Parts: sequence; C-alpha cells; structure tokens
Amino acid sequence: MEVISNSSDIELFRVDAPSEGDTRRKMKKMKSFQIPDLYKSTIIGGIKEKRRLQDKLKKDFTPTVLDYGMVKFLISRHFGFCYGVENAVEIAYRTIDENPDKRIFLLSEMIHNPDVNADLLSRGVNFIMDTSGRQLIPWEELSANDVVIVPAFGTTVEIQQRLSDIGINAYQYDTTCPFVEKVWNRATAIGQKDYTIVVHGKPSHEETRATFSHAKENAPTIVVKDMKQTIELAKYITGEKSAEQFYEEFKGQYSEGFDVTKDLQRIGVVNQTTMLASDTQGIADYLKQIMIQQYNIEGSDVTAYFADTRDTLCYATNDNQSATYGLLKEEADLVVVAGGYNSSNTSHLVELCEQKLPTYFISSADKILTENLISHFDLHSKTERHTSNFIPQKDQVTIMLTCGASCPDAVVESILLKLHSFFPEALPIEA
Ligand code: SF4
Repeated sequence: MEVISNSSDIELFRVDAPSEGDTRRKMKKMKSFQIPDLYKSTIIGGIKEKRRLQDKLKKDFTPTVLDYGMVKFLISRHFGFCYGVENAVEIAYRTIDENPDKRIFLLSEMIHNPDVNADLLSRGVNFIMDTSGRQLIPWEELSANDVVIVPAFGTTVEIQQRLSDIGINAYQYDTTCPFVEKVWNRATAIGQKDYTIVVHGKPSHEETRATFSHAKENAPTIVVKDMKQTIELAKYITGEKSAEQFYEEFKGQYSEGFDVTKDLQRIGVVNQTTMLASDTQGIADYLKQIMIQQYNIEGSDVTAYFADTRDTLCYATNDNQSATYGLLKEEADLVVVAGGYNSSNTSHLVELCEQKLPTYFISSADKILTENLISHFDLHSKTERHTSNFIPQKDQVTIMLTCGASCPDAVVESILLKLHSFFPEALPIEA
C-alpha cells in the first residue's frame, strides 16, 4: 500500500505561506512541553523513544512488534499526543496553576479527548460551549475578571471580538495550534490574491468553523465537507446548476455576500488539518480539473483560475495516516483504535483500518468489557455498540494498536495491558 507524503504533484503555484517544513523546523526550536504524569506511559513512551532514536528522519512507517507468544501486538509507528495537543495541555494546566483565585473557562473541549476534558472539568474548569457550538454558559455570565482558554482548534473572529468586548484577552491563554494558524495564513495569502477560498473540512467542527471565520475576513469563502459536496459545487462552476439552488444547498457553509455567479471563477483550496489526505488531494485535483475544462486552459494559465497549493494537513495527521498504511501492510486479526469519538483525525484512522480488518474504536480500556465483549463506536451509525467474541480463538492472536493525536499514551498502555491480561500464558510485558 502506498505511503502518503505531504508533497503534492499539483504544485504549479505556491502562495506565500510557510511550508510544512518551515513550520516544523520552527516548532523544533521551541521548548518541549510539561505534560502531567497521568497522561504518560512508561511502556508506550519507551517504545516511541526507541523508534525515534532509530528513525530520526521519520522514514520508517513499519509498526513496532511486541511478541508475547500467545498474543502479538503491532503498534503503529506514529500515534498519540501531537505538538498542538501537548502545547494545549501544558497551557491549560499552567493556567489552572497560575489562577487559583479566578474562574477558568474553556471555550469548548480543549481537544477531542474525554480523559483530558474530564480531568480539566474536575479541576474546576467550565466549558462555555459544546463541540457543536451550542452555548452552555451565557456570555452575560462572564466578566473581565475571568480567564478564558482558547482550545487547540482556535476560535472564530466573532468570538475573539465578543471576549474582547467583555474585557477578556483572548490571546493570553490561547492554545490554538500553530498548524491551524498556518491554515489561516494560507487562506489569507490565497484570499489576498483574489481567490475565493474553498475549505475542505467538517462544517460543524470547531477548527473548520474557526478557519471559515478567519478566511472570510479576506475573501469569499465556502466549506465543502467531502467529494460528494465538491461534485455538487462544481456544477455551479460549470453552470449545470442554477445559482438559486446554491444558497439552499450550501446553506450555512458560505460567507455573507457570496455571489455564486462570480465567486467561483477563481478558487484556492485549504483544508482542516485532520482530514484524510487522499480525500483532500482528490478534492483539490477534482476542482482543478473542473477549472481546466471550464476555461479550456493548460500549463501556467491554470493559476489564473486555481491557486495550486500544498494541502494544509498537519504533520501529525500525515505521520499518523502514513503509519496506519504501514501498519495495515501487515497481517493481523483485529485493530483497536483509541481516541475521542468526536476526534476527526482518529475517525480517519478508523476509516482506513476498517477497509482491511475488524476494527474497534474505543475511548478507553474500560470499553473492553470482558475478553469476549467490547463496546465500541460505530462511525457510520454514530452510536456505541457491543461486539461479542471480538478476540478470535487461535494459537496466536495478532492485534494492531493505534490512536489519534489527542489520545494520551496512558490510555494506549491501559488497553495494551488489558488485552494482554486475557492471555494468562503469554510472556510478561516488561516496561
Ligand atoms: S492534530 Fe495537527 S493541527 Fe491538530 S493539534 Fe495536533 S498538530 Fe495541531
């Protein structure tokens, strides 16, 4: 199976935004993060460090093999807390320490992980909104004396303004991931060159809402959630669909004043950082091809209609998806993917795994109810369901294990230990 790289073969024109490499080099120069011990794992941390030292350039996407005789685990090469999540976790816990006498709020879940959010709640932090943007605490209840933490997904221009009106500095405890800001910068660069910005993302996801909000400050902006919607959008470019239909079909996904008769003649694509790389590439390629056919252009003329840029997936999304492809080259009986059920990047890992093997998406080891029963999230029905006999009866069972970018190593360790405990005659795990 092909290993995805971050490079794009459609790069005819580069807008003035920092490259992935630039951003990553900048990140490396910055400090390492202080993460509470409850999120760490000796076993998983040890595996990661060993692999990091063996493969500093991150070219090897083969999994780590832990063979305990009756059970063998294949651990993905890349998974777990990314730069942006560690940054957010450190800021959030420091904020709590620095403000013992103040009320502390998070705009919404800081990251999509139930353990982290639950721990912050237990320390007295309150969420102003839920993940869909529904208000849980009215703005009127906040005062200039309160502390508000901006989550790793960033927030909208409108919310920044609202906080400012209350007298709260939205930038003081801002955990917005630099890779999300990079998308905003890319959108600004595209918009300043008079392209309409097409955002490939989940319209209700906090990050896409924030990116949409910042993008529309510079240019007409529209969100497409998938290829199906992109194909429909293309019908307005070709004139196959009438302009009147557009405003109903894309309701809530276009910026104010969007003129479908003019604003789709020159476009550029950015994406939510955690989308599936192949989907994002497919959407950009498809729109580019539509512009080429519609305007009968080729070569360097294409850039007059389509801002050809690299995708804006973050390094963690690329690494984790590439490592999942590497994992799936191997043979196994099942895959366990850990993470929050509303986590976009984790969901895409599950989608990849489901194509090959029985896949169980669980938020914690507690979801493994017994050696015969697991409660897991079904991405398609968006519900948790039970599966019996999820571990096959064989002489040696092989289990793949990975997790999303917002899942602590401690969760992966507890899943590993629980699964291993079902094989009493297996060799012991040594930290
Ligand atoms: S998944 Fe990517 S964009 Fe999101 S917090 Fe992590 S590094 Fe940042």
